[in-house]
Amino acid sequence: MNYFFLNWKMYLDRDQSIVLANHVASKDTLPDNTVIFCNDLALSEVKDIIGPERVGTQNVAWVPAGAYTGATSAHMYKQAGATHALVGHSERRHIFNETNIAIRKKMEACVDTALTPVLCIGEKKEQRDDGKWKEVLSEQLILALEDLDMKGQIFYVAYEPVWAIGTGVSCTSDMLQEVVDYIKQVLGTINQNAIILYGGSVSSTNIKDFDNIAGVDGVLIGSAGAKVESLDSMLEVLQ
Ligand code: PEP
Repeated sequence: MNYFFLNWKMYLDRDQSIVLANHVASKDTLPDNTVIFCNDLALSEVKDIIGPERVGTQNVAWVPAGAYTGATSAHMYKQAGATHALVGHSERRHIFNETNIAIRKKMEACVDTALTPVLCIGEKKEQRDDGKWKEVLSEQLILALEDLDMKGQIFYVAYEPVWAIGTGVSCTSDMLQEVVDYIKQVLGTINQNAIILYGGSVSSTNIKDFDNIAGVDGVLIGSAGAKVESLDSMLEVLQ
């Protein structure tokens, strides 16, 4: 497993984040490319515990500074020690009504600040059932990335089907292979190249399956990565 990304969402407060970060840091079987997307208020401490290049933000403003109450810019996250940013997570899209246009601007803000973006894309259950997943994914990819000069920076695309997030129902290997091939095809048409991750109900029982899919370089894990027992079980399976 090349990339082991943990999205702690708003599961853990600052003190709990520090405790779990210390536990993560104590593991000698941690994949090299581990990144923790923790709560903003814990970011600086988690970075000091887990080390540089291993902490990310779960969201980012699209403007660098100014009269934007409640927002935090890419530059500010960088200053606090983040190197990565989730952009367009489905909870941001569907609970906070983030549009593809806003997500594009956030991608631009990340590139301008050299914060490595993890663009999250994924279709809802009804879109999959209606056979519309290709349409949804290509729109999300194209609006976020077409003609965007990445300035040589690497970036990630995390395929996280909405129906798999937090449901215990993950994508099957066949389904995921088809989606990843399609994502690569769309990225090719807009001359972009990304590291591809899978996210959605990853746990110790299925994490190995995602390791064996051509074109999938790693995982983005939510709830199973925010608890000691499930985190340890996944690391054991990966050994
Ligand atoms: C996520 O929200 O990024 C995620 C993958 O969640 P979970 O692993 O809990 O499905």
